[in-house]
Amino acid sequence: MTHPISAIVPFVDFAWQHEPIQTQLEQAIQAVVQRGDYVLGQDLAEFEQQFAHASGTSYGIGVACGTDALALGLQACGIGEGDEVILPANTFVATLIGVLRAGATPVLVDCDPQTALIDLSAAERAITPKTRAMIPVHLYGQMVSPTQLLALSETYNLLIFEDAAQAHLAEREGYKAGSIGTAAGFSFYPSKNLGAFGDGGIVVTSEEIIAQTVRSLRNYGATRKYFHTDYGTNSRLDTLQAAVLKTKLPHLPKWNADRYRVAQSYDRLLEPLAEYGIFPLENHCGAGHVYHLYVVRVTELCPVDRLALQTGLMEMGIQTGIHYPIPCHLQPAFRHLGYRVGDFPYAEALCEEILSLPMYPGLAEEQIHRVVFAIQTLIKASAGLGYPQAIDAA
Ligand SMILES: *Cc1c(COP(=O)(O)O)cnc(C)c1O
Repeated sequence: MTHPISAIVPFVDFAWQHEPIQTQLEQAIQAVVQRGDYVLGQDLAEFEQQFAHASGTSYGIGVACGTDALALGLQACGIGEGDEVILPANTFVATLIGVLRAGATPVLVDCDPQTALIDLSAAERAITPKTRAMIPVHLYGQMVSPTQLLALSETYNLLIFEDAAQAHLAEREGYKAGSIGTAAGFSFYPSKNLGAFGDGGIVVTSEEIIAQTVRSLRNYGATRKYFHTDYGTNSRLDTLQAAVLKTKLPHLPKWNADRYRVAQSYDRLLEPLAEYGIFPLENHCGAGHVYHLYVVRVTELCPVDRLALQTGLMEMGIQTGIHYPIPCHLQPAFRHLGYRVGDFPYAEALCEEILSLPMYPGLAEEQIHRVVFAIQTLIKASAGLGYPQAIDAA
């Protein structure tokens, strides 16, 4: 199926994913409507099993969103009051919210400036006798090294709980995202690599007892109907959303592969712009990177500052994003944690430099060229070098 290439390059576009399977999606939704098993229905159980299996684990428990997957998953792992949990400062705030909702004490650490992933030496230095767990965030679709995580976990007897909200089916060193540690949380927010038609999330684990506890926690803490053994909540993945996700899951490897194709084109076309201070984040994970986002650093060497670049691109019809502009430790809501400016220099510097370029499966080569050409044009205009005749790398 071909799509008209518009002058606008949107940040995300679902058409290429959804149009070829539109009939299947409608039939899946219709079937749930007719069966009427809207809560904890058949498609939920089937999707949970399929997603857990695809992620290299034994059990999946669908919940209302990724934030709940982290909060309830940590709680089910026995993480709570008095336990310190290490996580990166440069993640989406939901990681931090999950730790706080489990009742544990978050301990933030800095990141590696080349990959934006948690700095595991900084994590090691942050370990105290109270440290119980570590949350590696597979940020932008790149996994934190499983072998390094497992080595740390073994040495210090730490539980690993992966935040895999941006890394569905990512792989590194023979491990699938979600299968490294005791348990993991995923999000199915619409724009994630696997997205629902609304909110959704899942906890995966290979430990039966943890699976049972999350099942109870998401369902008012009931281990059987009207018998409440845990202080739970109401957080279930709707059967309708599970039916949509189950229809989309078989296509995910192909969609992730297409994201990788887009990233490789960007890498190749952006290489000449290193001279002008534009550096894509490094991929240390090879073909297992699932590129939820494609992020470049607009460094001080660049003659255009990031805001001017982003504004210029917008005027040329190219949508970009910043993921995320303020690190967790400097968010007003978390001032009580006692962190201040300067605590995590790499995370803070990255917030000023990062720019997420359009990235989605189906992004055409022509559009990728247009994005890079626009960046090149803005840089050369600003550097007083005149406008380029044509894109060098095209
Ligand atoms: C999206 C996301 C979450 C939260 O998921 P929701 O479904 O939006 O609650 C958590 N962590 C990371 C890294 C995310 O990107």
